[in-house]
Amino acid sequence: MSGSNVIVVCGAGGFIGGHLVGELLERGLPVRAVDIKPTDEWYQKFDAAENLSLDLRDLAACRTALQGAAEVYNLACDMGGMGFIETHKAQCMISVLINTHLLMAARENPVERFFYASSACVYNADKQRDPNVTALKEEDAYPGLPEDGYGWEKLFSERMCRHFREDYGTVTRIARFHNVYGPYGTWDGGREKAPAAMCRKVIQAKLSGNHDIEIWGTGDQTRSFMYISDCLKGIGLITRGDFVDPLNLGSSELVSINQLVDIVEEIAGIRLERHYNLNAPKGVNGRNSDNTLIQQVFGWEPDTRLRDGMELTYRWIYDEIAAGRPGH
Ligand code: NAD
Repeated sequence: MSGSNVIVVCGAGGFIGGHLVGELLERGLPVRAVDIKPTDEWYQKFDAAENLSLDLRDLAACRTALQGAAEVYNLACDMGGMGFIETHKAQCMISVLINTHLLMAARENPVERFFYASSACVYNADKQRDPNVTALKEEDAYPGLPEDGYGWEKLFSERMCRHFREDYGTVTRIARFHNVYGPYGTWDGGREKAPAAMCRKVIQAKLSGNHDIEIWGTGDQTRSFMYISDCLKGIGLITRGDFVDPLNLGSSELVSINQLVDIVEEIAGIRLERHYNLNAPKGVNGRNSDNTLIQQVFGWEPDTRLRDGMELTYRWIYDEIAAGRPGH
């Protein structure tokens, strides 16, 4: 695939990247999909895209990936849920090479738009100590006290995007995702996040007849969760829009982890005996997305009800488990 109209999705073998490739192809756009994993391990692989297996920590690989690119979406990152990022801080930080080298390649081979997937993990930890959270506004990322390892990498990479824009004119756009969930994500193996992990645990309890469930922490910690279709819509708006600073992209429907389990139990039609593992990684006590700014800019915010998105996610994971497929 050549010419200068190619849309490059980095991290295309993962959860959000795979969905994004599907959406762009549906709109009839030429897509180059890139991931470090061999293509047979991608969560979704589309024959209509040009599929490349490249390690984007390497500058030469980034140059290859971005040849003839009009737009770049950087969703490539070595990450996972709390269980992973709290125990793999150096590994998470090495992803800084991916965004840095992609930006360098984008400067040499100018692109119209460069999207960077940041995270709510950039927010100052002091503002997230109470489960009765005040939702996080974009300005709450400073003074910097992000999640150790992963959050520092995200905050640094945001600044790289900003300075490439200011100093070299690279047209960068940034979204801070708050917990994205949906089908075709990781649901087992240690990198899965809470919604998928809860679905898996409830399904396994249901299928095995062992009606116990382990919950990390007290279950009182609060979060919001964004369904994948809202994430894709927000990526499109932010990338093509004129707003240059980082924007929250998350649902503002706040629930505790116990309420999340209630929802999954209701979908499964089962009640489980809950055991709380207070030594397990649990992240900050409370986090929600303040959507005032995205509402002001686009007149929209993620609005899929958690119950509806979880139903679709639960059904997909159930079918995967029933078919004996791996969850990572
Ligand atoms: P994912 O792990 O499913 O996908 C990331 C992909 O990046 C993987 O397929 C991985 O193989 C690939 N990758 C890792 N290192 C690479 C390298 N060196 N070269 C090329 N590819 C490489 O994660 P996701 O949930 O799809 O997340 C996508 C992006 O969104 C990431 O930047 C992540 O930090 C961010 N994000 C996600 C969430 C969420 O809840 N899923 C929340 C906040 C931010």
